[in-house]
Amino acid sequence: MTTADPSTAPGGRTIRRAVVTGGAGFLGSHLCEALLAEGVDVICLDNFLTGDPANVAHLLDHAGFELRRCDITQSVAVSGPVDLVLHFASPASPVDYANLPLETLKVGATGTWNALALAEDKGARLVLASTSEVYGDPQVHPQPESYWGHVNPIGPRAVYDEAKRYAEALTAAYRTAKGVDTAIVRIFNTYGPRLRPDDGRAIPTFIRQALAGEPLTVAGDGRQTRSLCYVEDLVRGILALARAPEHGPVNLGDPTELTVRRIAEDVIAATGSSSRIRHVARPVDDPQVRRPDTTLAHATLGWRPRVTWQDGLTRTVAWFRERRAAPA
Ligand code: NAD
Repeated sequence: MTTADPSTAPGGRTIRRAVVTGGAGFLGSHLCEALLAEGVDVICLDNFLTGDPANVAHLLDHAGFELRRCDITQSVAVSGPVDLVLHFASPASPVDYANLPLETLKVGATGTWNALALAEDKGARLVLASTSEVYGDPQVHPQPESYWGHVNPIGPRAVYDEAKRYAEALTAAYRTAKGVDTAIVRIFNTYGPRLRPDDGRAIPTFIRQALAGEPLTVAGDGRQTRSLCYVEDLVRGILALARAPEHGPVNLGDPTELTVRRIAEDVIAATGSSSRIRHVARPVDDPQVRRPDTTLAHATLGWRPRVTWQDGLTRTVAWFRERRAAPA
C-alpha cells in the first residue's frame, strides 16, 4: 500500500523518518523499500558484512533514502529527528554466523546497545529483529511467545541464539529501566527475492541447486519441519508492529509446516528441474520442528500471512532465474 502522507498511515503512530540497521540485507532491503513506499524517509545503516549495497541500489535515486556504510557496533551518529529504529543488523544464516561467531555476538550485544541508545536519544520506537532460534530445539510445539526455549548455550548455533536472547533481554530492560519505546519481533524462517544463493539456508540452496541441475542436499531424512513465510507478509507484519502499542515479543511467521524433504520436492517441481534429492548429514543442534503460534500477532496486529507457499515459491524462483540470467 502506498500513502503519500505518513501521518495517515494505518495504526495511528506517525513515522516520518526511520533508521534501518542491516538495511542492505535480505529483510532490511525489503523494509527500506516498504517504508519509502509509505512515504517514510529512510536512513539505511550497514557494514555489508553479509548484505550487499546492490540490494538497495534501486533506492539510491529516491530523495527520501540515504545509504550509509556503518558498523553498528561502533558509534552511531544520525542527525535530525528519527521516529523509528528497526534493528535488523546481524548475520542470520547458519553458514554466516558459523563463519562470523564473534561479529554475531558483538552485533547482538554492542550493536543492540548502540541502536537502543540511538532510539533513546531520538525518542524513537525501536523494533528488535529477534528470531524463532530463541526457542532452540523446541519441546513445545507450536511455539507460543510464552515458551522460554531449549537452547544449548555453547553449541554451534549458540553465537546466534544467545546473541538474540541477550538482545531481547537488553531491549526489555531498556524499556523498563529507561522508558524507551521498544518492541521485539521473533521472526520465523522467511524467504523471497534477495536471499543469497550461497547463504546456506534451505530455500536459496535448494533453488540454486535445482537451477544448476545439481542434487538437492537434504539434511538427515528430511522429516524435520520448517514453517516458511514469504517476505512481503513478514514486512507487512513488522511495519504493523512498528505502528502498534504492542511491546512483544510477537511471533511473525507462517504456521504452515512443511518437512524439509517436501520443500525440496516443491522446489524441484517449481523449477522444472531434473535434479534429485541427496541426503547429507544433519547439522548439530538442527531443530526437529519449527512452527509459530501466531495467535498474538493476529490478536494485536490483525496480522496473518496471505501469500501461499506455492505463490511465494514461484515468485522467488522467478527472481533467482532472472538473477542467474543477468550479466555479472
Ligand atoms: P542478512 O544477512 O541478509 O542481513 C543482515 C544485514 O546486517 C546485512 O546487510 C549485514 O551486512 C548487516 N550487518 C551485520 N552486522 C552488522 C554491523 N555490525 N553493522 C551494520 N550492519 C551489519 O540477514 P536477514 O535474513 O535479512 O536478517 C535480518 C535480521 O532478521 C537479522 O537480525 C536476523 O537475525 C533476523 N531474522 C531473519 C530471519 C530470516 O528468515 N531471514 C529469521 C529470523 C530472524
